[in-house]
Amino acid sequence: MAWIKTKAKKIIAGMNAAIRDDIMRKELMFEWLNILLALVSFFMTVVNIFTKEYTLMLSTLIFSVACILNIVLIKREKKVKGLVYSIFVVETIALLAFFLVSGIPNGFSALWLCLIPSFSLLIFGIKAGTRYSILTFLMLLFFFWFPAGKNLLQYRYTDEFMLRFPFLFAACYMLALFIELIRAQTQKQLLLSEQKYYQLYRHDALTGLYNRYGFNAVVDADYKNPRPEKVGMLILDIDDFKQINDRYGHSNGDIVLKGIAEIIRKAFCEQTHYCRWGGEEFTVYLHCGHNYEESAERLRRYVEEAEFKSGDLVMKVTVSVGLCTAKSMESASIAMLVNKADQCLYIAKGNGKNCVVSIEVP
Ligand code: GH3
Ligand code: MG
Ligand code: MG
Repeated sequence: MAWIKTKAKKIIAGMNAAIRDDIMRKELMFEWLNILLALVSFFMTVVNIFTKEYTLMLSTLIFSVACILNIVLIKREKKVKGLVYSIFVVETIALLAFFLVSGIPNGFSALWLCLIPSFSLLIFGIKAGTRYSILTFLMLLFFFWFPAGKNLLQYRYTDEFMLRFPFLFAACYMLALFIELIRAQTQKQLLLSEQKYYQLYRHDALTGLYNRYGFNAVVDADYKNPRPEKVGMLILDIDDFKQINDRYGHSNGDIVLKGIAEIIRKAFCEQTHYCRWGGEEFTVYLHCGHNYEESAERLRRYVEEAEFKSGDLVMKVTVSVGLCTAKSMESASIAMLVNKADQCLYIAKGNGKNCVVSIEVP
C-alpha cells in the first residue's frame, strides 16, 4: 500500500512538472502511451492465444515488446529521442497496415486505426500529430478506396465498411483535434494565471517594486552563492509622510510613493534589488561593490530635489536613510543587515530626519 502511495505521489509530481514544460509533457505522454499499448497488446496476445489467432498473436506480441523497448530507449538515450519517436511511428503504421491487409479476425483489427488521431495529437502536438494522422488516413484510403490497394487486401471487407470507415477515422481526428486544442488552451491559461499570481504575490501593486516576499526571495537567492565582496542593506523612510496624506489626500500620497519608487529604480545599478518594505518604507539590497554610503547620500539628495506633481499640485518630501554595510556576505546575515539598518534609520529620525546614518559591520 505504501509503495503504491509513493509511486502515485511520484507520478503526480511528474505530471505537475510536465504541465510547465511541453517537451517533458510529450515525453511523459509517450512513456505512458507505450506502457498502455504494451499492456493492451499483451492482453490481446493472450486473447489471440485463446482464440487460436496465431499470426495475430505474433504481431501483438512483437508490438508489445517494441513498446517496452521504446520506453527503455526514450529514458536512456536522451540524444536519440527524435529517432525513437520515428521508430514508434513506423512500428504503429506497420502494425496497422498488417491489421488492414490481413483483416483478421473478421475485419475487426482495422478498428484500432481510430486510436491514432487521439494519441498522435497528445504526444506529438497538433502539427506533427496531424501529419501522422494524415499519413494513416492516406494509407486507409489507399487500401479501401483505390483499386491498387484493394487488390492487396487479404480480407473481404464489405463495400459499405470500406466506404464509411475513413469517415469514422476523420471524425475521430476532428474530435481529437478539438480536445487537444482545448487542452493546449487550458494549459496556456493555467501558466499565464500562474505567472500573474507570482507577479502579484511577489510585487507591490502600487509601485511595482518587489514586496517583502519577492525581495526576501531574491536576496536569499543571492546569499546562496556567498562572495567575498561588500554588501549593504539600506532602509529608507519618507519623513512626515502622514502630513502629506493629511494635507493633500491619500491618492496624492500614493503619487509620492510611486515617485520615490521611480527614483530608487533609477538611482542604482541594474543588479540592485529593492522593495517596498511596507507603508512608506523602502529597502535596497546593495551588492554591486560600489561606494554604498555615497549611493545612500545620492538617493537622499535625489528625493530632496524631486518634485512630485499631481495636476497643478507640486509636492516635496525628504527621506531618512539607515544603511548597514558588511565587508563580505560571510560576515553578516541578511537579518543582521536589516536589523542594523533599521537601528540606523531610527537614529536618523532622531537626528532631525532628511539624513543618512550608516554603520559598517566588520
Ligand atoms: P516619520 O517621519 O516619523 O516617518 O513620520 P511619518 O508620518 O512618515 O510616519 P507615520 O508612521 O506616522 O505615518 C506613515 C504614514 O504612511 C501613515 C499612513 O497613512 C501612510 N501610508 C502607509 N501606506 C500608505 C499607502 O499605501 N498610501 C498612502 N497614501 N499612505 C500610506
Ligand atoms: Mg515608517
Ligand atoms: Mg515616515
